[in-house]
Amino acid sequence: MNSLDIIIIGAGIGGLTAAIALQQQGHRVRLFDRKPELTPAGSAISIWPNGVKVLNALGLGDAIAAASGDMQTMSYSDREGKLLTRFSLQPLYETVNQTARPIARTALQRILLATAGEHNVTLGISCDFAEQRDGKTIAHFSDGSQLAADLLIAADGTHSKLRDLVTGQKTERRYCGYVNWNGRIEATSDLAPLTEWAQFVGDHKRVSLMPMGGGLFYFFFDVPLPAGTPNERSHYKEELSEHFQGWAEPVRRLVERLDPATIARVEIHDIEPLTSLINNRLVLLGDSAHAMAPDLGQGGCQAMEDAWVLAQLLTQHEDLSRALKAYDEARLERVASIVTRARKRAETTHGHDPVVTQAWYRELAYETGEAVLKGIEKTVEGGPLE
Ligand SMILES: Cc1cc2nc3c(=O)[nH]c(=O)nc-3n(C[C@H](O)[C@H](O)[C@H](O)COP(=O)(O)OP(=O)(O)OC[C@H]3O[C@@H](n4cnc5c(N)ncnc54)[C@H](O)[C@@H]3O)c2cc1C
Repeated sequence: MNSLDIIIIGAGIGGLTAAIALQQQGHRVRLFDRKPELTPAGSAISIWPNGVKVLNALGLGDAIAAASGDMQTMSYSDREGKLLTRFSLQPLYETVNQTARPIARTALQRILLATAGEHNVTLGISCDFAEQRDGKTIAHFSDGSQLAADLLIAADGTHSKLRDLVTGQKTERRYCGYVNWNGRIEATSDLAPLTEWAQFVGDHKRVSLMPMGGGLFYFFFDVPLPAGTPNERSHYKEELSEHFQGWAEPVRRLVERLDPATIARVEIHDIEPLTSLINNRLVLLGDSAHAMAPDLGQGGCQAMEDAWVLAQLLTQHEDLSRALKAYDEARLERVASIVTRARKRAETTHGHDPVVTQAWYRELAYETGEAVLKGIEKTVEGGPLE
């Protein structure tokens, strides 16, 4: 297809990756973000091999590898610290021919932004409405300006304002029943082995420590709580001490050492799988299309896959509407199944049905790694790149 003028609303992981993929196919891309400064929410992200393969294909593999953590093993312990299972991630990496890359969100954003070109990004401007006429999409911005393009990509995240314009109906976010606190901390072996993704589970709660590069662990705590509980930064430490009272030494140490000033506290939501991601010259991509529970670590990876697939299809098809229809067909089922599986994983981990969660704790004691790695492999192998 000829080179298109494309507007992307949202310069998060999805918007920036899409900009790079589209620029590489010869399109002219402009990004707009309502934030006056691009500061990612959250400390780190685990890019699983399906996401890494997209970044490799975009030529970013070395930069990502240099900035990410070395994650070789995975373990689960119970709340008292008794090891339930520990296994190597090597069999997964060998089967899918790629390692995972846990990385600071700031590092990922720096790499994506530098590649997409800062001059292509306009900050501090929001777009809450777009209209389609005369074969163009017209974005309406908060400063009263308008801009016409051949295609508008709504990569405006989980709270997307443009989603309802695409789907033609109101989509409410669904609360997944738990709160996540996440941050980073100096990686020391009295917290967890330095190249291990270590998790502690019990009482429907979860604590995780993952090597994220730069001598740091990315950590998070999950606690099932009703929606709308007070979010007071000055209380984070006290709250976490209460929720994890009597837990294993490393968990208590983590709570003692963490700096509340650098923690993000998020009530976890997803959206019901959508029935279409396109409306003529408007396209959803990333969390606007498929906000999901983070329990499979796939939200960002799926945004990367969306970006890659869309850019390739625009090249493969002469006709824009055919290309977008092909995008819808390629992505709908894939993302719906991951949203659903992530939701199920979240429910199992966080005691949605306590009987199921107890059974999972018992299974972990017999887990050799095979079942866990098969699950990750299934997700990775459904991606667009070998
Ligand atoms: C606790 C937690 C842990 C996670 N862990 C992982 C993980 O390990 N691996 C993984 O792959 N994924 C993970 N995710 C998911 C991942 O963070 C998201 O899927 C990803 O950030 C989505 O990127 P996005 O670009 O679609 O949206 P966002 O990153 O939300 O970006 C959207 C952008 O759009 C802008 N915007 C919004 N509205 C407007 C508007 N009206 N006008 C202009 N700009 C606008 C926003 O300012 C923002 O910059 C996790 C999520 C959470 C909450």
